[in-house]
Amino acid sequence: GLFNWNNSFIFAHDVLNHFTNSFTASETPFTAFCLVMRRTYMEHGFEQSFCSVDTFIRVWFAFIRLQDLDSSMLCPTCGPSPSVVIADGVSLAPQMSKLTSHIRPPTTTTAHSERVETISSYRARGLPFIKTPALRALLTKFLDSTKVFFTNILDTTPLAAEYPSLHQFMMLYLSSGRQSPHYMAYRTLLSQISAPDIALQLVPFKAIPILRSMTDPNYDVPVWLQSLVPAMGHAINSHRTNSNGHRVPLPLELRAVAGWMADRANDVYSRLAQHDPAPIQVHGADNLGSWGDWRQTGTCYGLPQIRSRRVYPKLRNDGSPTDRLPEDKSDSGCNKYYSTYSKSNLAGGIMVLWCTHSICLGFHTMPVAEGRNDVFAAIYTHFPVAPEIIVYDYACQLAAYSLVREACFFRDTRFLIDELHAHGHSGCGQACFASNAMTYDERVRAINTSAAECGNGGLKRIRKSVSYMTYEHTVLYTKAFFDVWNRSIA
Ligand SMILES: [Zn+2]
Ligand SMILES: [Zn+2]
Repeated sequence: GLFNWNNSFIFAHDVLNHFTNSFTASETPFTAFCLVMRRTYMEHGFEQSFCSVDTFIRVWFAFIRLQDLDSSMLCPTCGPSPSVVIADGVSLAPQMSKLTSHIRPPTTTTAHSERVETISSYRARGLPFIKTPALRALLTKFLDSTKVFFTNILDTTPLAAEYPSLHQFMMLYLSSGRQSPHYMAYRTLLSQISAPDIALQLVPFKAIPILRSMTDPNYDVPVWLQSLVPAMGHAINSHRTNSNGHRVPLPLELRAVAGWMADRANDVYSRLAQHDPAPIQVHGADNLGSWGDWRQTGTCYGLPQIRSRRVYPKLRNDGSPTDRLPEDKSDSGCNKYYSTYSKSNLAGGIMVLWCTHSICLGFHTMPVAEGRNDVFAAIYTHFPVAPEIIVYDYACQLAAYSLVREACFFRDTRFLIDELHAHGHSGCGQACFASNAMTYDERVRAINTSAAECGNGGLKRIRKSVSYMTYEHTVLYTKAFFDVWNRSIA
């Protein structure tokens, strides 16, 4: 076919498609493509020379605007609501002056947005297992001091006073000694309890009743607990059999600390879970697209938008781009998140969601990269049911952010950091890492490979080209890229 542009240029579809195929296969700027075409023309002795780069750019975008490559951005294997989602953002800083007033990322709120006042910064305090940083530091010190010389030289009475069950378990760890088959398992569990992250990272909602039942000495712990709370699974498994292959009863201290963990996680959850997610709104034919055409809104997901982001006026700084702080004031937060997002260059970019089969499930352009809010809002506004696992570089921060705002919606979601992004999270609990959950969950093992594939093959390839483009071109170019990407995988 032929594409007639302004009656001044006529292009073969082949040439335009050839560019699409080139830039989606490997990084190909417009200039490089036009240079190759010009040389080809000369080699073949064509009388006319190939058009200028500017003209080609204009023609290609006019052409692609009319195309509906329509990969539909849905994974045939995962279906409409994938259970594992990988979120990956890239900052690009498209020319801000070219941003239109139509841009509507999922983070958008207006004066008409629903206001949720059942959650407040006051309710959202004390989210970690050990509420105060001083006591968390004391437990960390205790673990450090027992690393080499196995004697406790610290005064741990403040922990004993505040958390007696935890303290008794610490003493069990100390008395079993370093040669004990339970040494590493106990140590890991204690270290995860000392994490500054929200308690529900270590003990997800589903695990609460099981941990609570563990206080009953006759309760037989189901094996699948280990995939929900790997650290507790390790500890229990270290008792499953002795050298003669006989079952060893679990120590009372371990049962008691499980009960305490259940109470803490339940307390955090019930304080946050004050409201249901907004009901699903399906837009009828008459007001179809009231959220707008993706070419203008810059938001393009395979799933239709079914909710709008709510406003949480009683949470400090909610929805403002300066909302970089941890939900809990007593928490110093993730070093990596803070150093990435506290920089004054609040560049915009693209947020992309993938499934584990490396299918792009959609993307949105971010006028200002907001990190957690971009992932939270994209999922909440498009997914009827929250995914079981969300993989994200800053999962440590995303967990508390999402659970504080929509605890009921996200209660069965686990927030994990993949291996590619694991570095830099020095203070963050092990429960945040995919590597921690991997031992017992096969799906999590698949995550690391697919996350790396999407990250390296996907956004990196178009990053440079897009950084020179206007906003509207960025959206079209990105969509064309992902459509071809998805078709090549499906
Ligand atoms: Zn899939
Ligand atoms: Zn972190």
